[in-house]
Amino acid sequence: MSARIIDGRAVAARIRLELASEVQDFVAETGRTPGLATVLVGDDPGSQVYVAGKQRACREVGMEAFDRRLPATAGADEVADELHALNADEAVSGILLQLPVPHGLEGPKLTELISPEKDVDGLTPVNVGRLSLGQPGLRPCTPLGVMELLREAEVPLEGAEAVVVGRSNLFGKPMAQLLLEANATVTTCHSRTRDLAAVCARAEVLIAAVGSPRLVRGEFVKAGATVIDVGMNRLTPDEAGNKSGLVGDVDFLAAGELAAAITPVPGGVGPMTIAMLLRNTLQAARMQHARAPIAGTR
Ligand code: NAP
Repeated sequence: MSARIIDGRAVAARIRLELASEVQDFVAETGRTPGLATVLVGDDPGSQVYVAGKQRACREVGMEAFDRRLPATAGADEVADELHALNADEAVSGILLQLPVPHGLEGPKLTELISPEKDVDGLTPVNVGRLSLGQPGLRPCTPLGVMELLREAEVPLEGAEAVVVGRSNLFGKPMAQLLLEANATVTTCHSRTRDLAAVCARAEVLIAAVGSPRLVRGEFVKAGATVIDVGMNRLTPDEAGNKSGLVGDVDFLAAGELAAAITPVPGGVGPMTIAMLLRNTLQAARMQHARAPIAGTR
């Protein structure tokens, strides 16, 4: 392995420390504590683990964490009522509807009900539109985390050939927009892309978010490229070759022989997502306070 490893755990830990101090300053300045509400519908074990992690992370940086749970049998109206109540609650700065929602509910439609100023996942049409127009707004956490890793690894983006594999609303599309904003030359690939290997091999920055274990092989990687692996695929620990049983969308060992820098799975992009969620929650609290300060604080 000749590539430098981009250590997402270390970067995320540093950001969380910085955020803890920024939250303290915000509370001292405004008398308000930023708060994140997570809404979990159903009892999917994976989602329960993610939500618990987000709740814990909030408390660790001094934010409030509100844990709202609805049964898998909840109808769209019940979820909508919960979201409307959270929109109206001044103690709540950010709202996250944990996806995917159970069968029978429509995640994107429910997400649309979140007030754009509390949309810390950056997935409502207003925030998606703001990103695409280059206007300030809340950005989706995982692509934001990737931008932070690229900055941290001092990867030049201006004019660079960047290839994003995957075009989901959650990741691929906003990732491409953020890279464009940073003046990269961006190509987005998907399941109908012809000769994926050849397109990827042009990339100075190659970002994979497909959900297909080790799809990106050594021959996809240009010598000296930076490779960011967003994929999180669960295999048995034996199949994965690691304790967690998690592998990415990139063949780490083969790509690492050619790349200049690469993110591991786990320990690369994953930890950044929660760090960016916390940062977005503080940003949302700041925006809300700027609009409606408590009397005497500004
Ligand atoms: P998604 O909605 O399923 O989208 C997958 C994308 O990959 C689609 O655009 C699809 O193309 C494309 N694709 C599928 N097979 C392909 C192939 N053979 N060649 C080229 N493109 C192909 O997934 P997602 O939500 O973006 O997530 C992708 C991966 O990232 C998953 O492993 C997920 O767990 C991980 N993820 C991790 C984090 C994190 O915090 N670390 C956050 C989000 C996602 P079409 O559009 O043509 O179908």
